[in-house]
Amino acid sequence: MGEDLLWKITKGDKVDLKKYDPAYVAPSIKREEVDMQLARLGAELGELQELLAAARHHSILMVLQGMDTSGKDGTISHVFAQVNPQACKVNAFKIPTPEEAAHDFLWRVHKVTPEKGVLGIFNRSHYEDVLVVRVHNLVSEDVWSRRYKDINHFEKLLTENNTIVLKFFLHISQEEQTERLRARINEKDKAWKISTSDFSERKYWDEYQKAYEDALSKCGTDDAPWYIVPANHKWYRNLAIAQTLVETMRTYKDDWKAELEARGRNELESLQQLRARKEVTDL
Ligand code: AMP
Ligand code: MG
Repeated sequence: MGEDLLWKITKGDKVDLKKYDPAYVAPSIKREEVDMQLARLGAELGELQELLAAARHHSILMVLQGMDTSGKDGTISHVFAQVNPQACKVNAFKIPTPEEAAHDFLWRVHKVTPEKGVLGIFNRSHYEDVLVVRVHNLVSEDVWSRRYKDINHFEKLLTENNTIVLKFFLHISQEEQTERLRARINEKDKAWKISTSDFSERKYWDEYQKAYEDALSKCGTDDAPWYIVPANHKWYRNLAIAQTLVETMRTYKDDWKAELEARGRNELESLQQLRARKEVTDL
């Protein structure tokens, strides 16, 4: 592939979401090849995750955000199908509990960031505190407007402690959302997905887009970039995210291997010393 399937937002970019096509498909991508590509990427992701887990040198934090029905749950079930659940940790962030609400907004988030060796996935995240909270005026503007800076500091703390942070905004069009909600009404096997709030939130579409533009612009940093994922096509969304995650992890592969080899050498040396002292005689 080699070309960008999605758009990376780093420091200083000013995002206007209307300029990003939610139905974009990169020219090199052929629909009929995507299932194969996804299977290959899934297998590689599984291997890379094994190395990540064994090396215990980094953690990965993948943040998924997007409008209702944009496919956060679907991404998790498809992209991570071949990953070992033991070294994976998914956290979904809902309306804060009274205990969570009585703390600063990062408290509940920091408690569940992935430890070294773990691939953490956030289904919604601390960004809700500058999205839904802003759109619904749950706190005053001077409170939410300070949070972008807090978020950047928080994510810097994570990256300085070897957490690889990737943030994906699943970008769908309003028409696509309408289709997906309609399907939930009309197809009996999808009705369980109906959440009345998804329907009542629709009238805030423009406010949410504006809030997302600010979150992407203010918190797209070089160390913790945002990616805008064209998400109208579910298969393309899965491919773009899997590819980006795998490409990012690949850049650490040699480090992780070197870490493991060094650890192996140390262990063998310790064993030699035991043997030299005759503490191990039968092996
Ligand atoms: P879902 O992801 O569909 O299960 O819905 C979770 C709901 O919790 C969404 O409506 C979110 O907007 C809401 N939510 C998540 N975090 C917060 C927050 N910090 N403050 C208020 N609502 C939130
Ligand atoms: Mg929902």
